[in-house]
Amino acid sequence: MEFPPGAPRLRVVIEAGRSAQEQEIAKLYWEIAEDGTWARTVGSIGELQWAAATATSASYAVLLRSLCVKCDEPIRVANRSWAVKVAGKFLDRPNDKYLCQECGAVREEERERERQHRLEAARAEKERERLKAEEEAAEIAEILAAEEAKDGAGARIPYDSPLAPALYLALVGHAAYRPGKPLPSMVDLGLLGWTADIDRDRDAILDLYAADLLAVAAETPRKAFVFSEGDDSPRFFLTEARWRLVGDSKVITAHARTVKSHYMTAPGQAAHEARQALAELVEHMEIVNLILYLDGLLTKTYQYPEVPEGRRRQLADIVKKGFDAGFTPGQMICFAWRAADTAAGWKERKAMGPAEASSAAVTILNGKIDTAIEARHAIPEYEPPRWHQQPLALDALRELNADVKRVRDRAVMDACLQCDHHGLRETDTGAVVRCVHAPPATPEQHTESQNEPAGA
Ligand SMILES: [Zn+2]
Ligand SMILES: [Zn+2]
Repeated sequence: MEFPPGAPRLRVVIEAGRSAQEQEIAKLYWEIAEDGTWARTVGSIGELQWAAATATSASYAVLLRSLCVKCDEPIRVANRSWAVKVAGKFLDRPNDKYLCQECGAVREEERERERQHRLEAARAEKERERLKAEEEAAEIAEILAAEEAKDGAGARIPYDSPLAPALYLALVGHAAYRPGKPLPSMVDLGLLGWTADIDRDRDAILDLYAADLLAVAAETPRKAFVFSEGDDSPRFFLTEARWRLVGDSKVITAHARTVKSHYMTAPGQAAHEARQALAELVEHMEIVNLILYLDGLLTKTYQYPEVPEGRRRQLADIVKKGFDAGFTPGQMICFAWRAADTAAGWKERKAMGPAEASSAAVTILNGKIDTAIEARHAIPEYEPPRWHQQPLALDALRELNADVKRVRDRAVMDACLQCDHHGLRETDTGAVVRCVHAPPATPEQHTESQNEPAGA
């Protein structure tokens, strides 16, 4: 049975063995007019749901103008709404989307096969990754074992690097208070790092590692290691590695002593340049540290902004002037504290904004330092507060630099009974060496700097 009879768009197929009434309802249900629209509403056949259920359970329709996109067979539909969905309102729309039932089943099968393939591929990929991770873990373990095995037998102090040995001293000092713990990585330390200069830190650490004074610590995070494709040799990010000092405490102490006396007394151009580099580094770190302190004071204590960008260069010059005049770090902290305090007072009295007050602190600091230099005021030494974070190597390098300076200090040389006025003395074997002006009984004892701070 096909509709409309002249140019059929739809064929009705009724299941065998259906009653005459069911056959009749199916025919009424599927019949379409000449233009392809339904000949009647389902409701006009009988009670709506009963009529639809009876018709669709007894029959289906084949859309003669809507062919399967795969096999060109007309598509079967189970009810009116599917018929319209596939063939459009007039049941004559060419189909570019739907499959016949058979092809649909095949496609379903193909999809299932593809799904299985994908699952298997994913499983294989996961397995590959697992093996790779295992391999990498084994390689990392191997590197760490090699690092662990380093005993410092081939260690040498890298004197060709002016600052690496000094940093070694700082690392030794730091490790002394963290028994059993690795030295932090540069990433752990953040922007300030050891010396307030990440590049310098990295160069020095690389030199110390190459010299076998540092080894990668077992606590180094796995992400520090990199494996590049086609190159199985693992490497690590210098900035991510945590470190241990190579050698037992006796060896390390001996290295530290050697390094210290190199800076203090070694003759020659390289040692001279190392001392200069150390002095410049410490000066730079002191200036950075004081600026950090003032910024912290303004922001944390007073809730002002940091010193404005436009005045930082000037602030650095002012701080340098203070250190050059001989004020100690503690005295400089005192100046900064007083400058911020005075600026806060100005802000109240002169109704300034917070940014103006931060800027005023720079001007005031300059004035206070100038006045103290001129009037030779006694300035107390302040401890930096606990919130203040200084570059980690500052204390150690400051101390080393003071020791180095003391060796060449005119007043100390003149007062020393063991050396001449050049600071040189003769050893038992007749060699001439630089004197460290230590009391003879305890040559290792650390002596405080005798530098007279200006105004103290
Ligand atoms: Zn088909
Ligand atoms: Zn001496």
